[in-house]
Amino acid sequence: MNCLYNGPILYKDQILEGKALVFDSKVREIIDEDHLTKDSYEHVNKINAEGNLISPGLMDIHFHGYQGYDIMSSDPQDLISLAQKITANGVTSFLATTNTAPLSSIESALDTIRKLKNKNIEGAEILGAHLEGPFLSPLVPGAQDPSSIIPPSFEWLEPYTDLVYMITIAPEVPGALSFIDQVCSLTNITVSMGHTNATYEEALLGIEAGISHATHFFNAMTGLHHRNPGVVGAILSSNHVTCELIADTIHVHPGLFSLLLKTKGAEDLVLITDCVPPAGLPDGTYLKGERWIESKDGQIRLPDGTLSGSSLRLNQGVNNFKQHTNCSISEAIQLASLNPAKVIGLDNKKGSLELGKDADIAVFDVNFNTLLTFVNGNLVYRR
Ligand SMILES: [Zn+2]
Repeated sequence: MNCLYNGPILYKDQILEGKALVFDSKVREIIDEDHLTKDSYEHVNKINAEGNLISPGLMDIHFHGYQGYDIMSSDPQDLISLAQKITANGVTSFLATTNTAPLSSIESALDTIRKLKNKNIEGAEILGAHLEGPFLSPLVPGAQDPSSIIPPSFEWLEPYTDLVYMITIAPEVPGALSFIDQVCSLTNITVSMGHTNATYEEALLGIEAGISHATHFFNAMTGLHHRNPGVVGAILSSNHVTCELIADTIHVHPGLFSLLLKTKGAEDLVLITDCVPPAGLPDGTYLKGERWIESKDGQIRLPDGTLSGSSLRLNQGVNNFKQHTNCSISEAIQLASLNPAKVIGLDNKKGSLELGKDADIAVFDVNFNTLLTFVNGNLVYRR
């Protein structure tokens, strides 16, 4: 049994002072700190948080790679290294997010993800997969490979429904609405709208068919015009469509962070990284699939200037969001812990510190730098 003490604890949605958090693989008890001297806690491994915030670990549901390691690699060791590296960012679990690529490449990435799903790999837990495509709009590929975009096929997806928690799709492409309807009625997969050229009306039809989430909101979708409200307008005016935000201040102007918080509320906003393999490496030119991308000054771009994912750390995203809005510490963290867990239906066991939930814990300083990270109660990172 372990115990974290001497720091405020973000427990459920409250910040508690003078308490200690007792856990093994699950959160077991919240006790008064002075009870730690009692005999019954004599054999508990006591870890001093030294005044820092004891927080739920972060969950990244849109994440492609980090420090040179790529989710699309079919080498399990690459995924294990990746999962270990991101614990330094306070991330305790994630959806391995595939790119739009030839189906055989996506299939081999999924086979590797399946081998490691929910395994103890001394790093962040790989929960499953998020498929970013290949059923996107060829008109809005962003940095996805347009030559691999194909029409939606439920038959192709079916063997992976145990593994996939989310799929990003453009609702206006032929066959999309019946695909969305099948996915939503036959599986637990969350269908997300993204890389889409839909009109406002087409986007609403997608939402009616079952779309409940928006992939990197504002990016790679039709924007808001008062006579042509586009995908952005459809999502902002629909209740219960949650939104991903890349809070690196590059993908979306930080002036919109508080607008988004006002319109969507702290319940329906999810911070993600959309982080790609060159993130965390020195500036330079890197090969991504068969294309070169350039990493410079925190921005990662294709040669034509298109942003190609981010180099954001999720804890930095939490800090950026907090800095640019008036939200509380607990709200800022909720956007990257409980909210993503809710979006993929895992909030019964992850996303917050509550009795019986998984002991996924991060200890952050006042700038959300990570000091300690625990996954299912195991210490996996110490600065
Ligand atoms: Zn992405």
